[in-house]
Amino acid sequence: MSETPGPSQTIVIVGAGHAGGRAAQALRTAGFAGRVVLIGAEKYPPYERPPLSKELIVTDAGLEKARLHDPAWYEQNKIELMLGAPVTAIDRAVKRVTLAGGAAVSYDKLLLTTGARVRKLPLPGADLPGVFYIRDFDDTQAVRARLKDGVKVVVIGGGFIGLETAASSRKRGAVVTVLEAADRLMGRAVATEIGAWFKALHEKHGVAVRLGVTITAIEGADKVERVVLGGGEAVPADLVVVGIGIVPNVELAMAAGLEVSNGIAVDEFGRTADPAIWAAGDCALQPNAFLGRKLRLESYQNAQDHAMAVARNMIGEPKAYEDSLWVWSDQHDVNLQMTGMPEGYDALVWRGDPAAGAFMVFYMKEGRIAAINTVNLGREMKPAQRLMQSRKVFEPAQLADPNVRLLKLGKE
Ligand SMILES: Cc1cc2nc3c(=O)[nH]c(=O)nc-3n(C[C@H](O)[C@H](O)[C@H](O)COP(=O)(O)OP(=O)(O)OC[C@H]3O[C@@H](n4cnc5c(N)ncnc54)[C@H](O)[C@@H]3O)c2cc1C
Repeated sequence: MSETPGPSQTIVIVGAGHAGGRAAQALRTAGFAGRVVLIGAEKYPPYERPPLSKELIVTDAGLEKARLHDPAWYEQNKIELMLGAPVTAIDRAVKRVTLAGGAAVSYDKLLLTTGARVRKLPLPGADLPGVFYIRDFDDTQAVRARLKDGVKVVVIGGGFIGLETAASSRKRGAVVTVLEAADRLMGRAVATEIGAWFKALHEKHGVAVRLGVTITAIEGADKVERVVLGGGEAVPADLVVVGIGIVPNVELAMAAGLEVSNGIAVDEFGRTADPAIWAAGDCALQPNAFLGRKLRLESYQNAQDHAMAVARNMIGEPKAYEDSLWVWSDQHDVNLQMTGMPEGYDALVWRGDPAAGAFMVFYMKEGRIAAINTVNLGREMKPAQRLMQSRKVFEPAQLADPNVRLLKLGKE
């Protein structure tokens, strides 16, 4: 049996993002009566990031649309919020974190939910005014303020964030070009065929999509004016939005001597090798039994579910966490959902009609389902996911037949 911390205990959470906010909530819901200190580098209380590239660009909604809790919730639940206060060091010997201003907070247990930051474009001109990234609310505000009819936006990177930003910018009347180095869109997440379907979707909505391009520089006199491609061609730009991935915030953990690679290494309970320190969300490298390996996830659902599970583990009987590997993206009028890992598959099974705009794809590996995409067919995701998790061998013809109900197939 694990020891349940008493009311005199302090749990410090470093990183007041989605994972941090949900962890604080889970501690109180599970009855933890001790001190909870939630420390964040940003000046805002925890909020969800998905709207940053979607409705918060398209509409004039403010942060209240995305925040996890009302401001009063923190006081009501006795969550001590310390914002605009990056933690600069963890002293594991005395169980204390130090903040940028020099203040220190002692902990009995520490949860790291430091998330990730954007990968910067390593090119000449990338620091010119007019070059933006989208990771936090201020980024979105800055981009949105510049989006008007006819403004030329060049998006660098054809992954989720880039493509969502492209779609949202179009909705605000911008002239949008997406530049992608690979020969397909969302290459890490979906099959070439799905990438091609989305390329056509963007083009239908007036986005120019250019694949296989090399970018050599961003140029302009005192602000962005153009993006220069490998062959010397210049793509005019009033605004550049870069979406080329993220890197986990692991430096704090690394400096404290914790095991770190592509994320802070944790076990299935969210524990690091230090019995007083846990990690969750985008910053954590966690085991996944379905895949049979460790991985670092960058998803809303993981940020939420992992953080809450780990928070409960910190105060109660530890229970292994297994992420469902589910993510979504909204682009134009299309909802894409993905589960599993689309790697090493040997066949794609299509269900529904791509031309009709609602369909799904099963990624098959030796007869089993390795991954699934739904396009405007989210209601099929849950029953399909159950088929995948069953690890049973399925007849492709059955999966493809819209008259065979997935729910029923799962019960056979
Ligand atoms: C624009 C955008 C759109 C997205 N859309 C989707 C989507 O459609 N679907 C989906 O599944 N996922 C989406 N995601 C991903 C999802 O939002 C993230 O996976 C999730 O936010 C991760 O939460 P987190 O709390 O682990 O990390 P983060 O959100 O990165 O939060 C970590 C927090 O910790 C703070 N911090 C870091 N270091 C320190 C320190 N030393 N001291 C104090 N604070 C620190 C950071 O400032 C940050 O506020 C999107 C992400 C972005 C940026």
